[in-house]
Amino acid sequence: MTSTRDPIADLRRIAFLLERANEATYRVRAFRSAAKALAGLPAAEVAERAGNGTLTTLAGVGDVTARCVAESLAGEEPVYLRRLVATEGSDLDAEATALRAALKGDCHTHSDWSDGGSPIEEMALAAVELGHEYLVLTDHSPRLTVARGLTAERLRRQLDHVAQVNAALPEGFRILTGIEVDILADGSLDQDDELLARLDVVVGSVHSGLKDERSKMTRRMVTAVANPHLDILGHVTGRMVSSRPAGVTGPGDRGHRARTRAESDFDADAVFAACAEHDTAVEINSRPERQDPPKRLIRRALEAGCRFAIDTDAHAPGQLDWQRFGCERAARCGVPSDRVINTWSAEQLVEWTRDRG
Ligand SMILES: [Zn+2]
Ligand SMILES: [Zn+2]
Repeated sequence: MTSTRDPIADLRRIAFLLERANEATYRVRAFRSAAKALAGLPAAEVAERAGNGTLTTLAGVGDVTARCVAESLAGEEPVYLRRLVATEGSDLDAEATALRAALKGDCHTHSDWSDGGSPIEEMALAAVELGHEYLVLTDHSPRLTVARGLTAERLRRQLDHVAQVNAALPEGFRILTGIEVDILADGSLDQDDELLARLDVVVGSVHSGLKDERSKMTRRMVTAVANPHLDILGHVTGRMVSSRPAGVTGPGDRGHRARTRAESDFDADAVFAACAEHDTAVEINSRPERQDPPKRLIRRALEAGCRFAIDTDAHAPGQLDWQRFGCERAARCGVPSDRVINTWSAEQLVEWTRDRG
């Protein structure tokens, strides 16, 4: 095996870039300790172990670091390193812009049927002006009474109404039907199965019991993610990093506009592994007061192999332009456009959600 790359130097370079980006210490340590473990071995043994897959039996070397070493020994820049290099510094604007340009629609939006401020028609026309090919309408589910969640009967009426609105919209654009369904305490979804099956896209979010104890919250989320009706896991941690913009109302926030909220506590690796296994997309929520999930969790979901949806969770037409914020955070984390489901056409998206159940 001939290689012009030094795997130990690559591991150290990754650690350095992670530190500079102010990433979590445990992550930096993983690369530093792998570099240290390999530095104590003859190069021939490192190559042999990379060849027969026994690098991970060494203390300090995990799956991710072993993969970097194997790529490096094969003479390639490790993918992990390439992403870090590609997403730092001045390239970010271009990357975020390219990602935004690749988006064909928005999978999480509200109208005045629940707690949004505008009629469906206005939301749709604003989406047309933004150049979208589709808008998924995802009003709230019954239990979220504070947000005027739609009963099964009101949702059926909304579906009829959407069909009428669609008939009057410009060709090449359509509203896709959907819901932001509450993930209940036991992980079940707050709407009839028959209706969930009928909708084009189902976003599921936790809106209550956000302080559930870790194992309970993990079980709750994993159960929901495994539900074949659920297509996208909405605002994963439930955090609020700042007060709401003026004039914006939303579930659970009446009278608490200036409050921030901590992340829910759950086993992120278990939840993202379930998302990858069941092919449920992880939402990158673009709302400035949410910025959810935080970047460290976007990176973990990316490593877990998850797909993403970069959505605005717009409650008013102007907020449909907030996708840019989600794109910036996604770009900063190295999320490639082929992992983002709303880069697909409406047909591809609906085909995917149908295939999933
Ligand atoms: Zn929500
Ligand atoms: Zn929402």
